[in-house]
Amino acid sequence: MTATAATVLEKPTDRLELLAQTLFRPMGADGVYARTGLYEGVVDALAAMITRYRHPRAEVFRFPPVMSRKMIETSGYLKSFPNLLGCMCCLQGSEGEIRETVNRFVEGDPWTDDLTAGDLVLTPASCYPVYPIAAARGPVPSEGLLFDVACDCFRREPSKDIDRMQSFRMREYVCIGRPEQIQAFREDWIERAKGIADRLTLPYTVDLANDPFFGRGGQLMAVSQIQQALKFELLIPVMSEEKPTACMSFNYHQDHFGEVWGLHGADGALSHTGCVAFGMDRLAVAMFATHGLDVDAWPASVRGALGI
Ligand code: AMP
Ligand code: ZN
Repeated sequence: MTATAATVLEKPTDRLELLAQTLFRPMGADGVYARTGLYEGVVDALAAMITRYRHPRAEVFRFPPVMSRKMIETSGYLKSFPNLLGCMCCLQGSEGEIRETVNRFVEGDPWTDDLTAGDLVLTPASCYPVYPIAAARGPVPSEGLLFDVACDCFRREPSKDIDRMQSFRMREYVCIGRPEQIQAFREDWIERAKGIADRLTLPYTVDLANDPFFGRGGQLMAVSQIQQALKFELLIPVMSEEKPTACMSFNYHQDHFGEVWGLHGADGALSHTGCVAFGMDRLAVAMFATHGLDVDAWPASVRGALGI
C-alpha cells in the first residue's frame, strides 16, 4: 500500500487500520506487535536523530527490559502506578513440583496458580535503573550528571489503539543536579524537542500534563503535579485532532529520586532529577500517520532530518 492508498481512505478507522496492518503484525495480545522492517527503519532513523542531540557529557546506558523488583519497590512505583506494573513470575520448587505443574498443563488443567513472583519486574520507564547507578558513585558533581538511557518498557494498559502499547521503546535524557540545573535542562529540552518536531514537519502542541496516578488518592497527586508544572508533554494528532498523542514528556521529579536513592551534592543537599522521554514507537507511528506509508514520498526536508 502507498500513501496514495492511505489518502483515498476517508474514515479515520480505515486510515488507522491501514497503518496498523502495514506497520505491525499481531502477536496474539493487544498492544504487543511484531514490527515490520519499514517501521523499524524509521524507529532507527529517529533514534539516530535523537542521538545527534546528545550532550557530549551524557553517559550512555542501554537497559534490559527487566529490572530488580526491589529497586522498583524502593523507587515508589507501586504507590503511584501499581495497576501498570508487570512482575515476572516463574515456576519455583523441586523438579517433582515443577513436573506436577507441567503435567497439569499437559492434561489441559489450569497451571498458572503455581507461579511464584520472581525478583524481577518489567521495566516501566527507561530512567528508573539509572538513579541507583548514579547514587552508587557518591556525591553528584557540581556540574550535575547527564545520561542517555533506553530500554523496552512494559505498562499493563492493553488497548487496540496503535498509539497505546503494552510493550514499547523509550529513550530518555536524564539530568541529576541542583534544582536550577534541572529546570534549565527541562526548559532547553522543551525548545529542542519543538525543533525536532519542526524538522520532522510533525504538527504538535506542548502542554502541561499529569501522570495517570492510581485511584482516588492518585487524583490529588495528579492535581498537585499540574499545579507545580512538573510534567509537560509534546502532543501530536495521531488518532485524532481532539485527542492528540503524547509522544515526548518533560519531567521534573524534584527531590523524589534524590531522597529515595540518597543522591546528594558535595554540600550534602539532596539532588533533584528530571528527564525528557521520547516514546520511540509513538514518534514512529506519528511519522507514518502524518506523512503516509510511502517513506520515499516523504518531504525531502524530513528525509534529510532523518538521514534517510
Ligand atoms: P511517561 O513516562 O508516561 O511520560 O512516558 C514517556 C513516553 O513514553 C510518553 O511520552 C510516550 O511517548 C511513551 N509511552 C508511554 N506509554 C506508552 C504506551 N502505552 N505505548 C506507547 N508509548 C508510550
Ligand atoms: Zn524518566
